Amino acid sequence: MVSDTITIPKTQKAQLTCKFGLETELTEIPVPEPKDDELLLHLLYSGVCHSDVSIMKNAIPMPMPLTLPFAAGHEGAGIVVKIGKEVTGFKEGDRVGVTVVNRSCQTCEYCKRTGAEAFCDTPTHLTTGKWGTFQEYITVSALYAHKIPDGVDLAKAAPTQCAGWTIYRALKETNTRPGQFVAINGAGGGLGSFGLQFAKAMGLRAIAIDFGQAKHDHCLRQGAEFFIDAQTQNVVEEMLKVTNGCGPHGVINVAPSAKPLEDALLYVRKTGTIVIIGLPDDAKFTLDTNLMVFKGVTIKGNLLGSREDLDEVLQFMARGLIDIPIEIMGLSELPNAIKRLDNCQVNGRIVLDTSK
Ligand SMILES: [Zn+2]
Ligand SMILES: [Zn+2]
Repeated sequence: MVSDTITIPKTQKAQLTCKFGLETELTEIPVPEPKDDELLLHLLYSGVCHSDVSIMKNAIPMPMPLTLPFAAGHEGAGIVVKIGKEVTGFKEGDRVGVTVVNRSCQTCEYCKRTGAEAFCDTPTHLTTGKWGTFQEYITVSALYAHKIPDGVDLAKAAPTQCAGWTIYRALKETNTRPGQFVAINGAGGGLGSFGLQFAKAMGLRAIAIDFGQAKHDHCLRQGAEFFIDAQTQNVVEEMLKVTNGCGPHGVINVAPSAKPLEDALLYVRKTGTIVIIGLPDDAKFTLDTNLMVFKGVTIKGNLLGSREDLDEVLQFMARGLIDIPIEIMGLSELPNAIKRLDNCQVNGRIVLDTSK
């Protein structure tokens, strides 16, 4: 029996943010007990997201307050090792993903509205509501535990829980159809890599915007039809050139600065949609409302997606259509991973192996 072979230690390692900034402290902390409606997971892998960097620096105003110390990290994958007594549908040994949303109320307007549960009035989010995935064990409400299909690698499944989920929903929010153009600003990172692969799998024509030869090669490998270098090319001119003078039907903004958004309004196709999902440290940009009106452009923000979206993401992976490159580092190497992300030196996604 699986339960005979699982030994749960009393303590575990966690990377704690004890003061705001990029440094963390590898600390021994207790392994939590699952509540009646929760699972205890042995977290084997955790992705590292650019939002972790911003949160650790306290650079973005969070809807819920941050209290020090905390473990950041909000996309993980692991094995169920203990089950709360009210939980049904899970067994020890199940492979499960962990998202930033650990709990939602199920009773507010947004929880009741199809597809809007990420906007719950009183959610429990990792990092703010409870410690995140930069640790070896975590409890998760069964409602937000997503079973990972057989054949999907756990290390690769971890980044689906924020990056893959978020950009998959953002692509839907652009309302683009197969054969249409979608541009992704900041396409070379974790979200962008997923976005390029999903776009291709959905029959969309993806245009990647990022900078440098390494990102160029990376984005084309992920399925981008065109690459525009934001440092050496005029993005607006190039974008119009590759879209027959009309611009892309949809734009997803992941890039952590204002200029890419201001450019997007210039090059987006008339009646097109710009979806903002990046959380830059400096979140202000100048909006030309006249241009927005004359072009009939929709600009909208989006947070994560629905639980159904996440299941769909995992099915894309199970079918072999999505396989983003990951770089595995040890949990102990987190400070180095964070510094590289802060300097935009990561292609694809860094995933932490919590055993190292
Ligand atoms: Zn994230
Ligand atoms: Zn709610």
